[in-house]
Amino acid sequence: MKNDCVFCAIVAGEIPSFKVYEDDCVLAYLDINPFTKGHALVIPKVHSAGLLDTPAETLKEVVVRVQKVAAHIKATLPCDGFNILQNNGAAAGQTVSHLHFHIVPRFADAEGGAVFTPHTGDMEALKALAERLRF
Ligand code: AMP
Ligand code: ZN
Repeated sequence: MKNDCVFCAIVAGEIPSFKVYEDDCVLAYLDINPFTKGHALVIPKVHSAGLLDTPAETLKEVVVRVQKVAAHIKATLPCDGFNILQNNGAAAGQTVSHLHFHIVPRFADAEGGAVFTPHTGDMEALKALAERLRF
């Protein structure tokens, strides 16, 4: 494999993938360790490590493709809903440092619901945090 990045190697055809969509900007293929049936990844063909490293123009193009691929998977699979996941950094569970959007199909008859567990908000703490973060 010439590319150190496994997703760049997929783009270059150095390793195989279960491709579902390709155009000049992106490649979409099935995740080899799917969370659910039809779990797919959409990646830009040009390498960037994550959301913060990607030029805004590229990001806009990629997100429109995420919408297109998600709509196709939802209609064709079919599924009842889907989650879009986009992990940044090891702390967030990112294992491949090439920007990718997960499309995770969800099914009404399966156990599911929210990905994260909500905690009752402390209004004073939320107010203070919003003041610190506002820009
Ligand atoms: P993340 O944890 O957000 O970095 O997601 C990386 C994803 O890439 C994981 O869900 C892996 O199962 C998936 N993955 C890693 N290598 C491949 C590959 N060669 N083909 C398809 N999916 C892959
Ligand atoms: Zn890459």
